[in-house]
Amino acid sequence: MTYDYDITVIGGGPGGYVAAIRAAKEGKRVCLVEREHLGGVCLNEGCIPTKTLLKSANLLSEIRHAGDFGIVGIDAGAARVDMTKLQARRTKVVATLVGGVKGLVRGNKITLVEASASFVDAHTIEAGGTRITSDYFIIATGSEVFMPPFIALEGKNTLLSSREALLLDAVPSSVAIIGGGVIGVEFASLLNKLGSKVTVLELLPDIMPMVDREVSGLAKKRLEKDGIVFRMQARVTSVKDNTVFYELGGKAESVRADAVLMAVGRVPRTDGLNAETIGIEFDGKAIRTDARLRTSVPNIYCIGDANGKVMLAHVASHEGIMAVEDICGKPAAMHYDRVPSCIYLDPEIACIGLTEDAAKAEGREIKVGRFAMVGNGKSLVEGDTDGIVKVIVDAKFGEILGMHMYGKHATDMVSELSVAMTAEATADEIIESIHPHPTVSEAIPEAFMAAYGRAIHLL
Ligand code: FAD
Ligand code: NAD
Repeated sequence: MTYDYDITVIGGGPGGYVAAIRAAKEGKRVCLVEREHLGGVCLNEGCIPTKTLLKSANLLSEIRHAGDFGIVGIDAGAARVDMTKLQARRTKVVATLVGGVKGLVRGNKITLVEASASFVDAHTIEAGGTRITSDYFIIATGSEVFMPPFIALEGKNTLLSSREALLLDAVPSSVAIIGGGVIGVEFASLLNKLGSKVTVLELLPDIMPMVDREVSGLAKKRLEKDGIVFRMQARVTSVKDNTVFYELGGKAESVRADAVLMAVGRVPRTDGLNAETIGIEFDGKAIRTDARLRTSVPNIYCIGDANGKVMLAHVASHEGIMAVEDICGKPAAMHYDRVPSCIYLDPEIACIGLTEDAAKAEGREIKVGRFAMVGNGKSLVEGDTDGIVKVIVDAKFGEILGMHMYGKHATDMVSELSVAMTAEATADEIIESIHPHPTVSEAIPEAFMAAYGRAIHLL
């Protein structure tokens, strides 16, 4: 039987478009079906627009501290962000990147179908009134905001999700953020720097659960110093007329704000695919996949947020490449235990691998090394010595189990550990690798040396 295409990808986010390009480069006849905008959530309403807004907020904060760097002649009190101009910049940055993706899709001779796809059978979808047949399918339909049924909404609320919060043309004077995960904390930092009075309500004892709590604790302290209020172990129960009601330590409390941001997670977007009827198995709303991204139907793969494993853009892209390689007979498995994760605060957080608590819970015998940024020359030059590098190493063999870093440029430095862990390098190899001076990266081998009591710039 001849199909219209060798591989058809459903969804053009960082998972789907990367998979389509990779498949085209393998010489496959490729179709990409996207119903809204190429680039998906990441380029249009996630990674890129948030970081564009954060760049301006952080720059404003630096300008206000220009005097600390010997710069005179700036009226720091008058400096402010013009939201209309900021939003115009966001639109331009997004349009440039989406335009780039369009060019890549066209240049790789991928057929782009701008429609919503739904399965007819394991080798056929319907999209925009036409039937498309394909030898293989890769589902990359992403995720959407989770609106929790356990938080009742009553009265008239200015309720935002990250999608609306990115489009604000005026800064609300106060914001209550439900959820102290990545979205909650990045928006808390952004809105606080832009002038909002921010309160974060988090159910758990620590913010950003995937980060080692010693590191997230340092970030929380800094955010508090900047003026953000955290209400930890607060269970939000309802929102009524812009007042958020929550339980804390057995007591009922509330906070009123001009706007309320809901940030309690995202759920895989799999409705409307008709995937159940062709035998694809689910875990809740997530499509079940194995380490090679295969679903329960042999010719159908699922990558990115839709499989609910790790909801990060770089994971979606990597899974896309792995799925295509598997289809092309070059099987390679995903390693979810060494995925870098970055949080764009100021300074930044970057982590990979196990936290100290998780390593102990696994019964590992570990050594922990810490190096505080106060001992790092480049951080002092940058004017910000808050932060730490914390490493978790297997006590016997020096296997790198995890690194959690809070400091300037941390997100650009975690890749070193990603490479090291993929190459199964040990602590010794990081220590023996020459790191340039002056850089914040010098704090990494120092932390590994500290695990063995050998750090140089530490008593
Ligand atoms: P998506 O990007 O969601 O793309 C899926 C695409 O599929 C969409 O374009 C959609 O229109 C299309 N689609 C859905 N159903 C169909 C259908 N039936 N037919 C046709 N097309 C369909 N991750 C990071 O790594 N770093 C960050 O800094 C970061 N920041 C974020 C900030 C915010 C505010 C948010 C919300 C997310 C952020 N993320 C970040 C997460 C990141 O955006 C996602 O992990 C990533 O976009 C997932 O990629 P994906 O390809 O799986 O899905
Ligand atoms: P999340 O799962 O990271 O955090 C949600 C938080 O809400 C949790 O800490 C949870 O304890 C809390 N919560 C749940 N119910 C609550 C209640 N009733 N009251 C108070 N708090 C409650 O989800 P998110 O922050 O919405 O982010 C969604 C996804 O987007 C994540 O998977 C993340 O990986 C991705 N993302 C990544 C980045 C980045 O990489 N920089 C940025 C933004 C988003």
